[in-house]
Amino acid sequence: MTDPAPKIKTESAAENLRLALSLMGKHGLPPTPVNYALMYFYVSGEDLDLNEKIDELLESRKGLTPEAAEELFSCHICQGNGPSNEALREELLSTVANILGMLIDLSGKTAMSSDKLEKHIDKLAHSKDPQEVLNVASDIISETRNMVDQAKQFESTLLDTTQEIEQLKDELYNARRQATMDALTGLNNRRGFDHALQDAIEDSNENGSGFCLLMIDIDHFKNINDTHGHLVGDKVLVGVAKMLHKFMRGNDFLARYGGEEFAVLLRDTPITGAFSVAENLRKGIEKLRLKHLKTGQQIGQVTISLGVAYYNKGESGDDLVGRCDKALYRAKTLGRNRTVLAD
Ligand code: GH3
Ligand code: MG
Ligand code: MG
Repeated sequence: MTDPAPKIKTESAAENLRLALSLMGKHGLPPTPVNYALMYFYVSGEDLDLNEKIDELLESRKGLTPEAAEELFSCHICQGNGPSNEALREELLSTVANILGMLIDLSGKTAMSSDKLEKHIDKLAHSKDPQEVLNVASDIISETRNMVDQAKQFESTLLDTTQEIEQLKDELYNARRQATMDALTGLNNRRGFDHALQDAIEDSNENGSGFCLLMIDIDHFKNINDTHGHLVGDKVLVGVAKMLHKFMRGNDFLARYGGEEFAVLLRDTPITGAFSVAENLRKGIEKLRLKHLKTGQQIGQVTISLGVAYYNKGESGDDLVGRCDKALYRAKTLGRNRTVLAD
């Protein structure tokens, strides 16, 4: 193969090319060899007469039509005032060599294959007249455009992929969330509670932070199901869950423990604080007046009983829940709708 890198004659050739391309874009001139040559010499400022005529045409209503461009090209560039054919060929060659240099730099990263580049270089080495050099320049311009298009396509594929990854991340988050979420009430489920309890125990044993557990059970819930049906029973569960949730603050962890039972973990809270939270919950639920949305039928008062226990350092989660459950059982036997502290 012949020498692939034609010598670059003028330092400003690449800059002229850039300006010429940008002017072509600005005036909406199609990337034909003739337009390219006209704008190239326009920015080089070698022929002021040519520049004046181009200015006039660009400002006129008709603009720089292909016919006018052809005429200017043959008057000013191919003969007469402009540079000689040989000088023009030289100048264009150096410009095109500059573009090729840029493309060779980019070819590792872009879509212009080295095969194509070689073909252009070969053509240039054998081209005898300016028109042919211009044709090669025009090919390069349109291929550069293709590269830009492909780069844009790549960018949009990248964007799609990024969006897909984000979507997958969301799905993963939702899947994880669903594993620890109760479908009916939207609260944490028993599994979520077990994890949170384990975390609280570890924290407490490592950092000495104290925490409390509340076990909550709806009173005579079976009666609600029996009187109004299971579906209304479900709605009552949701209503109670919402009300309990309203009282939660910061680090408080509320879960549906199972059936009509709920559990709350109160981190960094002494037993007195936990007792008052429990009482607020109890009073909040007691005040609720639930009615059947469709029929307007009153469901009546719903009450809850609560057991409250402070975590004893070193005890297991099961032991803590057991002590709290006992207190809850006592609240039931003492008449329900009350809070009892664990031993
Ligand atoms: P107590 O005051 O002693 O707690 O009486 P209770 O009726 O609330 O307790 P019991 O354990 O006898 O009955 C609990 C009822 O809760 C029985 C069960 O059918 C009902 N239940 C449990 N889970 C659900 C649920 O998801 N939806 C509905 N509608 N009912 C449920
Ligand atoms: Mg129960
Ligand atoms: Mg109950």
